[in-house]
Order: sequence, then structure tokens, then C-alpha cells
Amino acid sequence: MRVGALRETAIGEHRVALDPEVVVRLVKDGREVVVESGAGTAASFPDASYERAGAQILSRAEVIATSDVLAVVRCPEASVVSALRSDQLLIGLLDPLNNLPVIETLAAKRVTAVAFELLPRTVSRAQSMDALSSQASAAGYRAAIVAAEAFGRYLPMMITASGTARPASVIVIGTGVAGLQAIATARRLGAVVTGYDVRADSREQVESLGAQFLTSSITAGAGEGGYARAMTAEEQAGQQAELAAALKSFDVIITTAKVPGRTPPLLVSAETLAALKPGSVCIDLAASDRGGNVAGSIDRERVVTPGGVIVVGAGELAADMPTSSSQMYARNVLAMINDLVTDDAIAFDLADEVRSAVVLCHAGQVTSRAVRTALK
Ligand code: NAD
Repeated sequence: MRVGALRETAIGEHRVALDPEVVVRLVKDGREVVVESGAGTAASFPDASYERAGAQILSRAEVIATSDVLAVVRCPEASVVSALRSDQLLIGLLDPLNNLPVIETLAAKRVTAVAFELLPRTVSRAQSMDALSSQASAAGYRAAIVAAEAFGRYLPMMITASGTARPASVIVIGTGVAGLQAIATARRLGAVVTGYDVRADSREQVESLGAQFLTSSITAGAGEGGYARAMTAEEQAGQQAELAAALKSFDVIITTAKVPGRTPPLLVSAETLAALKPGSVCIDLAASDRGGNVAGSIDRERVVTPGGVIVVGAGELAADMPTSSSQMYARNVLAMINDLVTDDAIAFDLADEVRSAVVLCHAGQVTSRAVRTALK
């Protein structure tokens, strides 16, 4: 069985789906590995490092044509999708609920596609394959670093001969995997940190990191898979109002609130931004083409409001730390391959709780219930 990795082409995407360490493990497991020339360059894995690991470096067209399993980070562009064959398996963060036409094309071409986003993350067997968590963890860590860099003051308390600086106050809105990592990192940098989430059970996790918890008057409970459910317009307005009052006292706001397949909720309104102190920093990890948690945030851009608030749109922050993110992602890909492939054949027991969830399409059918519902 041949496993291939392509160079990512999305703007700002520096990650790669396989790293040399995972190539060594795949080769040891008896797989052949092919990597597109230059695929790992932006993540500091030159072609030679893959060759030393036992992979063959090929052109893009050759990798697509000769792979049985094609590993990608992001959903590939139309030219790749149209070149795929019915006997191939595509694995990636395919963002299926926002790429429905691509999924329909993959199904029509009888390609088998697996999307990490649909993994049932609370099933213990799935945890080594949990690419959403590995990438959210990198993004959360990076968010605190980006905030520290954008903020014009110290994060920790500093007592010097020239005077004392008080510690910065940071609030992290949305305390899932990324939010908890942002809290832990901001704490290590010496800030005084608060967490806020609509899932009441996140309080304990926030407090266990030594941060305070700001209680939400709205509990949007755990929806399917432990995710927060989408809120009604009324609830969202109530939340914006309660946050407007609370956020004025913070120097740094890091937002990570997402609801799978939906537009992220707008939590920091334009009025709230206008009331923040000049020099305050907002890092919006939910920023996307469809909007984010912070009014006016633009993905991959840094905007300064008329009131002097720095708003950083950072929807794919894991891509800015490509070496670590790719290493973790590649391990998730390896775990997924080992779970799906037995005796060199792809095993699709669609009654299995992990496979029935992650396999988007197989044998010409859209098999994922979540995607079928979205297609209706
Ligand atoms: P996510 O990226 O979907 O969302 C980030 C956070 O934003 C979540 O904590 C969510 O509750 C919060 N949020 C959503 N809407 C909000 C709003 N309007 N206001 C404030 N906060 C809001 O979350 P995630 O990091 O992918 O985690 C989702 C869930 O999965 C969590 O319950 C997490 O604990 C769970 N999880 C479990 C495992 C495991 O069991 N191994 C692994 C990963 C995640």
C-alpha cells in the first residue's frame, strides 16, 4: 500500500500531512511512501529529510496518480479532486460541512474520504487520531504568544528599579482545547487569566489551570459530542450584553468559540470593542470567511480600531507553527491509517462507531449521517 502526501496550496498553510518521523513508521509497517517535492519545506522538512526517512519524492501529478492513501491537511483544490480515482482513500481536515459540493464530487467519483472533523472525540480509541485537538492545542498556545507580541506592555508583573508594572489581565472566551491551552500559556507568561464558556462543565478545567472562571448567565449546554449548541438570536444578544460589561476591564481577549458547521457566534460587538482601552488586544481564533467572534476581525489580518484596539484574525493559527503542528497531525494521520487499514486493505465496517462517523463517502455513497443531513 502506497501512502502519499501533497504540498498544501491554501493561502498561509505551512503544514504538511506527513513528517519524516511518521514516514519512518509507515515504512516500518511495510507501506511505501511518496511525498510531493517541496511538500514539507515550509514546515522545515526538506525533501532530503523525507528521502532519508525512506520516502520517494515525486511530482504532484505522480503522487496523486500512484497513492492508495492520500493524506492532506486541508481540503484539496478542484484539480486534485478531479484527478482522484475510485480506489483511493483521501484523509484530511476536509471541513465537510463547509465543502458540501466537494464531498458530493468525491462521492460521485467513488473516492473514499475521511474527515477528521467528524471523529467521535470522546471515544477513547479515537484519541490518537484527534487532529482537531492536536491542531487546536497548537493554535491555543500560539494565540497567547501572538497576544503577548501584539500587546504593548508586559504580561507579567515586573518589579524593576524603574518602577513596577502590573500584570496584564487576559480573558479567554471559549475554553475548549484551544482555549485551555491559551489559558495555560498566558498563565506561564505571567498574566492574570480568566476563562469564560457557555458549557458549565468547563469551570472545573479552567480553575484547575489556576485561572478564574467568569460565569455565563446563559448555558448553551453540551450539544452532540460535547460541543456547545448554537444559540438563539436572543441568547446571543444577551451574551453580547453581559460580555460588553465584563470585557472593559481586560487588556487581552482571546476568543475561540466555535459551533461545528455553523457561523461562529459574534461575542465581542463593535460597541464592546469601542469601550476597550487603547492598546487592548483581541485575538480571534474563530475568524473565518464566514465571520468570527470579534466584530470586524479579518482572518490572517491585524486591524487597529479607531479607538486603538488591536484585532488579530487568526482562524488557522496552527499553520503558523508548522513544524510542531505537522508532527502532531502526521501522528494523527498514522493512527487513522492504522485504524482503517488491515492486511493492506481498507476496512470499512460502517457499523463501527469511529468509522461510521469519520468516513464521509464510500462506494459512491455519502455515508456520513452529519453530511447527509446537511445535504438535504
Ligand atoms: P470548539 O472548538 O468547538 O469550541 C471552543 C469552545 O467554545 C468550546 O468550549 C465551546 O463550548 C465554546 N463556545 C461555543 N459557543 C460559545 C459561546 N457562544 N460562548 C462562549 N463559549 C462558546 O471546542 P473544542 O475544543 O473542539 O471542544 C469541544 C468539546 O469536545 C469540549 O466539550 C471538549 O471538552 C470536548 N473534547 C473532548 C475530548 C476527549 O474527550 N478526548 C477531546 C477534545 C475535545
